Amino acid sequence: MHTFIKNTAQNLGFDACGISPADELTGDKVYMKNWLKVGLNGDMQYLERNFDKRFDPRLLVPGCKSVIVTLTNYYTSENQPENAPKVAKYGWPEVDYHFVIKAKLSQLEQAIRNEFGNDCFNDDCQHLFVDSAPFAEKSFAQRAGLGWVGKNKLLISPVLGSFCFIGILLINNEMVYDEPIRDKCGNCTRCIDACPTKALQNGVLDARRCISYLTLETKREIQEDLKPYISGYVKGCDICANVCPWNKKLSKQHDQIELKPVKEILEFTKEDWLQLSQTEFNRIFGKSAIKRGGFERLKEMIGLPLNPQNGE
Ligand code: SF4
Ligand code: SF4
Repeated sequence: MHTFIKNTAQNLGFDACGISPADELTGDKVYMKNWLKVGLNGDMQYLERNFDKRFDPRLLVPGCKSVIVTLTNYYTSENQPENAPKVAKYGWPEVDYHFVIKAKLSQLEQAIRNEFGNDCFNDDCQHLFVDSAPFAEKSFAQRAGLGWVGKNKLLISPVLGSFCFIGILLINNEMVYDEPIRDKCGNCTRCIDACPTKALQNGVLDARRCISYLTLETKREIQEDLKPYISGYVKGCDICANVCPWNKKLSKQHDQIELKPVKEILEFTKEDWLQLSQTEFNRIFGKSAIKRGGFERLKEMIGLPLNPQNGE
């Protein structure tokens, strides 16, 4: 079954696939409990809900025994025009990656059903996720041998780097599992040093200072002391990924036609972004992941001063 799943995932266009047992992640649970206790999640209260389920797939999908994890490379070597407001690369595809990866995972699920029967899946519960459930995806990806969670809190694949979407499929069967990979960050601190808002300190991410959070997750006004350090990003932030030596070495152009970038992201100058109306925003980005966070926040971020010493 293990080999069938991995071969099928590869044939469907996933760039990597690993399988782990669906046991509780006790260490990660304690870490996150402490992280939440001191409020480093900011306004992301959803991280506090369904807390136990996040670390134990069996509570999310009763009867599941294994976690199938897929990676899809989304790196592109294309660039936005110089001085244009920056959008993190995951937001570039015309179609929101959630839909693209879910469609592929559904095909994987159907192939497994065809080969091994419908009992493989719990039809009473949602068992297929892309960022859409309380689920510790990165930790399970690590356990499934697909990479390690780096000091920048991203999953780093030793084959693909960190520009990857993670897909999850929970299955009721036990099988042979992949071996977890050890952390390969070593003494490197490039992501910590490069983070302009000092969001990565002492081994933890202070989400309240992270540009991704500030551009996408919170509606609060940006603290004055952080404003000069937003570095031109208006949706997400790729700084700690861009500086990672694993990405410099491994990132290569993806070959997923479904992840074709919105052409305006590649063409818009700062002037175009400044003139963008709500109607045009909806028309151009209506299907893309960057509609999250909203138009008003985008406009607010574009208006922030760019301190050239803190850009990339
Ligand atoms: S995404 Fe940007 S702001 Fe957030 S930790 Fe990484 S470099 Fe810092
Ligand atoms: S930049 Fe260095 S420390 Fe940070 S995630 Fe990459 S390898 Fe790890």
